[in-house]
Amino acid sequence: MGKPTGFIEFMRRDPVYRPVVERLKDYRAVEIPLSSAEIREQAARCMDCGTPFCHGVGCPLGNLVPEFNDLIWNHRWHDAVELLWQQNPFADITSRVCPAPCESACVLGISEQPVAIRQIETALVEWGYDQGVIKPEPPTLRRAEHVAIIGSGPAGMATAHRLNQLGFSVVVYESAHRPGGLLRYGIPEFKLEKRVLDRRLDLMRAEGIIFECNVHIGDDLSYRYLTDRYQALCLAFGAREPRDLAIPGRELNGIHFAMDYLTAQNRRLQGEQATRDADLCARNRHVVIIGGGDTGADCLGTALRQGARHVVQLEILPEPPTVRPAHTPWPDWPDVLRVSSSHHEGGERRWATATLAFLSDDNKDRVKALRCVNVDWVKTKGGNQPREKPETEHEVPADLVLLALGFTGMSRNTRLPPELEAIRQCGNRPLRDETGMTAIPGIFLAGDAGAGASLAVRALADGIRIANTINLFLTPSETGDSSSC
Ligand SMILES: Cc1cc2nc3c(=O)[nH]c(=O)nc-3n(C[C@H](O)[C@H](O)[C@H](O)COP(=O)(O)OP(=O)(O)OC[C@H]3O[C@@H](n4cnc5c(N)ncnc54)[C@H](O)[C@@H]3O)c2cc1C
Ligand code: SF4
Repeated sequence: MGKPTGFIEFMRRDPVYRPVVERLKDYRAVEIPLSSAEIREQAARCMDCGTPFCHGVGCPLGNLVPEFNDLIWNHRWHDAVELLWQQNPFADITSRVCPAPCESACVLGISEQPVAIRQIETALVEWGYDQGVIKPEPPTLRRAEHVAIIGSGPAGMATAHRLNQLGFSVVVYESAHRPGGLLRYGIPEFKLEKRVLDRRLDLMRAEGIIFECNVHIGDDLSYRYLTDRYQALCLAFGAREPRDLAIPGRELNGIHFAMDYLTAQNRRLQGEQATRDADLCARNRHVVIIGGGDTGADCLGTALRQGARHVVQLEILPEPPTVRPAHTPWPDWPDVLRVSSSHHEGGERRWATATLAFLSDDNKDRVKALRCVNVDWVKTKGGNQPREKPETEHEVPADLVLLALGFTGMSRNTRLPPELEAIRQCGNRPLRDETGMTAIPGIFLAGDAGAGASLAVRALADGIRIANTINLFLTPSETGDSSSC
């Protein structure tokens, strides 16, 4: 334990953001990093718990939090970076986008504010890059086996990284123009600058991983091609099928899925030919975002930067409490009100509001407003259900509506070679066993594709787990058995 009285002496420092007027003029990262002296104080707040819930319960990657906090306090940043990177080789990503379940599980959080673990990680990882501690580390030995990974989001990246470390030759096939998955085309620049992602991808390339973009499995890669060249295949193509809202007026122009909208802006910023659909821009528009979660908040921040006239974010659930409620006790992930940096920038949040219909303009082709109603949530035998409140029907003006209602599973547009169709056993949610393997030996599922839409940190942890499983699958046992697809 670095400083036994640290948690008494020092207060938690919450993230500090650039001023709203300044940050709304650009898409750069909104958070201002703490100085190394401030980080040392934050690390000193760690109590080095006998049972560190941050590590064991909170972090899907099992970050060695008390250990690196102790090293920071003792001015051993080099060792701290190595320890962090060894357990979380994507700390540059997680320290920017992760909602930090480690902090929700921090023991200090029972009575005080938890340790600022995410900000400590950002500082460590940036210091590690600056000082050359984080550098390409290709494997010293190459194995004979080759593995293909389909999809270059966090799950594909983590699987590739781990397999490459183990000596396998890895090729990642990606249907988009550039690798990164939702880290590149979903999460906005102001939350994750793409230079951070590119820096990580460059490191992976320097370690020997090959990324091949603009390649669609099913269209460009036959089953025979894949099985001739690769001894195992990992499908990490995400869970991109958006949940729709089948209500009257859904066919009107001006109603889009959030991901189409966010992808268009990310592509513009990266100099890719932006989609021709000029409708995917909020400039001078009354925007309504349906869905009160993180994707909705990302749409809000983007719409404000694009110059929307007014933005409303609707959520059908009631407003959560600001303090941890009894039904999600520590160390569980708390069901509390989440306020993102975008919510401080403008817009309006409305809770317990259901959308009944989209209303059209005079030409009958474009959305003009939403007909909404306020709801109460009542306990029924089938669980909590929304019930319309009498005389609360109202209209919300909108000429751009963004549907941010989550994802239901594998994208319907994902074409697979016919021999792989067997993995669609469960509608658009493919199935795998507890090891991560599909019904076809040697074919594995990783990340959102296997577990359903979740968080980047879970996709990364799952990718590492699946890579370890593939290693076992391809490594001959002592009896001489070995498998391949
Ligand atoms: C708008 C948005 C914001 C989010 N913000 C956060 C956040 O702040 N923090 C957080 O932790 N999580 C966030 N998430 C969730 C997180 O991004 C995902 O859980 C994570 O990216 C899943 O990783 P993945 O690798 O499984 O899938 P993806 O990131 O979806 O990657 C799948 C990849 O497979 C490729 N692919 C698909 N089909 C094919 C094919 N046929 N052939 C070849 N390639 C194919 C896709 O192009 C894509 O690159 C957010 C999600 C969204 C939608
Ligand atoms: S739970 Fe919190 S206080 Fe305890 S070791 Fe982890 S970070 Fe430190």
